[in-house]
Amino acid sequence: MIAMKNLIFLIFLGLIFSFMSCEESHIEQHWQKGNLHTHSLWSDGDDFPEMIIQWYKDHGYQFIALSDHNTVGNSIFWYELKEREFSNNTLEKYQDRFGDWVETQIDSNKTYVRLKTFDEFKSKLEVPDSFRIIKSEEVTSSFERKPIHINVTNIQEEIKPIRGTSVIDVMQKTLDVVHEQRARLNIPMFAHINHPNFGYGIDVEDLKKLNGERFFELYNGHPSVNNEGDDTHIDIETMWDLINIHYHKEGKPPMFGIATDDSHNYHTLSPKMSNTGRGWVMVNSKSLEPSSLILAMENGDFYASTGISLKRVLLDKQKISIEVDPELGVNYEIIFLGLQKGSDEVVELKKVEGTSAYYNIGDKDIFVRVKINSDAKKDSPPMTSETKKAWTQPFLVQ
Ligand SMILES: [Zn+2]
Ligand SMILES: [Zn+2]
Repeated sequence: MIAMKNLIFLIFLGLIFSFMSCEESHIEQHWQKGNLHTHSLWSDGDDFPEMIIQWYKDHGYQFIALSDHNTVGNSIFWYELKEREFSNNTLEKYQDRFGDWVETQIDSNKTYVRLKTFDEFKSKLEVPDSFRIIKSEEVTSSFERKPIHINVTNIQEEIKPIRGTSVIDVMQKTLDVVHEQRARLNIPMFAHINHPNFGYGIDVEDLKKLNGERFFELYNGHPSVNNEGDDTHIDIETMWDLINIHYHKEGKPPMFGIATDDSHNYHTLSPKMSNTGRGWVMVNSKSLEPSSLILAMENGDFYASTGISLKRVLLDKQKISIEVDPELGVNYEIIFLGLQKGSDEVVELKKVEGTSAYYNIGDKDIFVRVKINSDAKKDSPPMTSETKKAWTQPFLVQ
């Protein structure tokens, strides 16, 4: 318990340091945009890795992690084209873009294309100073038909699906395997729990019991994941606060919220498909080295977004300040939410309409997070009623 409290204190110091130094010296924050949840033909996505990575590279992202189900894409795999690929002209589009790089084979009237390995597509498309490709896997397990999916960002060695005696047992064992790999290889990597409400597989009570989990998906762009819950299941944002209230009581460091695409479909844009550009993280890190990005995220020095960009997120001992990078004609609402002493729920502390706001931290505040709403409709999915939002991480005050 003492070690855990020390960890919280160190994280808090890290936050204070990183945010204070920005304010005091007026150094610009370096926001790096990334999507940590993406599928390709290596599992159930419908395009070649290079085509998907190229999309993110062309659309203002600085890093991408392909996170296919139960593979890190390091084997020789001749993919057999199926009806879906013929109707989407998947191979033609791939050849148009990448020419002789594409390897095909025809055997008994079947067409095969070799999927490039992680090392191959990384060396083809990565630009170290401006666009990074991070190795990842969606470790895809289940318990009694409840899906338990956990992404591992900057994984080095493939992890097989985990078996266990309950949902919490499978999750904890997965985390333990990730922690073991990280410690053994001495390479930063982290697990994040995917879409808890997908198939309503993971309950808030399961998440409360975890030890060593720091990240989960606050927003996932797949149409089947129930971010908003239903009549009998709570939404993910409410879940987030309940987890952090519990973690605070137990002396555990806070759970941080990530937004991701979980993209699978790259040929047809539709609310019924899981397309690109729906959710991402913005990480405050000068360097794009995976270890730097991970360190910043573990310090809570990032925000999740479904369309809103922030110019500044500053914290000092007295004050949290937020400045939106506004789009023309869009209205914004900045809401400070927090847990205070003597309370057992997260409440609204202050709400400001506009593009900048601050909150003076009071003696009663335990943690404070900021949610930014807008009246701008998202571009993806098309014709959606969803509006663009952003969420900072909970800042531990005490
Ligand atoms: Zn999943
Ligand atoms: Zn996925």
